[in-house]
Amino acid sequence: NDKVVIVTGGGQGIGRCIVQTFADKGAKVVIADIDDEAGIENEEYIKSKGGDSLFVHTDVSLEEDVGNLVDKTIKTYGKIDILINNAGVGARGTIYTRPMEEWDRVINVNLRGTYMCSKYVAPHMRDNGGGVIINIASTRAFMSEPHTEPYSASKGGIIALTHSLAISLGYDKIRVNSISPGWIEVSEWKKSREAKKPQLTEEDHLQHPAGRVGKPEDVANACLFLCSEEASFITGANLIVDGGMTVKMIYV
Ligand code: NAD
Repeated sequence: NDKVVIVTGGGQGIGRCIVQTFADKGAKVVIADIDDEAGIENEEYIKSKGGDSLFVHTDVSLEEDVGNLVDKTIKTYGKIDILINNAGVGARGTIYTRPMEEWDRVINVNLRGTYMCSKYVAPHMRDNGGGVIINIASTRAFMSEPHTEPYSASKGGIIALTHSLAISLGYDKIRVNSISPGWIEVSEWKKSREAKKPQLTEEDHLQHPAGRVGKPEDVANACLFLCSEEASFITGANLIVDGGMTVKMIYV
């Protein structure tokens, strides 16, 4: 169809797969990424398959970049139907070693970026009669490994931001949901210079109640569903896509 979709972090990993999945359905996809090489490569791939795509260099934590992303999208395609806030970064260090700048960096990209992209896109969706926003959170919003504080806190923030946005924007016919992926193996979805075959063991797969580690397609398909007419009564929700890991009780 003729939907216009912005995917942040659409150059590599899960975002690259979301971009290609929506392009395959005929959507016009705007790739917003800080990595020019990855973004341009993905844009050219979609065009080579006859699709319509635009790469806009964007650091989602910078207000100027986000404003430019939305301006360029509107100038090129005239509207925005779907925003997928997927750009995200992990945290380095531990609570004992981590400088506060690292906390700020992760919160600024993951949480501030998600809010800022939504803020700049929402008026265009409202004026066009509605839209859909999907925020990519993580199961780490609900459970942790050691030393992931900035990342986990940013993802917990995204869950709360999602219901808050859903309530603010509901009557403007903008639905807002989050997806919380578990372990998603992205090594095949990196830019060609870095892409590699996954090195997964049988144990990696079998610890998942679903019997396998997740793929970017699992998240992309969840995005397609949440954007569809069939999901028109779903807003403010969080969809866990983790092969059952967060509901698995572990006794050693
Ligand atoms: P990735 O590192 O493979 O890809 C992330 C993309 O975002 C890259 O193209 C990168 O250049 C881009 N990016 C980074 N900082 C940016 C910024 N400031 N502005 C714009 N773009 C930026 O990561 P991924 O594994 O595909 O993760 C995508 C999303 O899914 C993230 O939000 C991540 O937290 C979430 N997630 C991933 C997993 C997993 O197991 N892979 C699990 C749960 C949640």
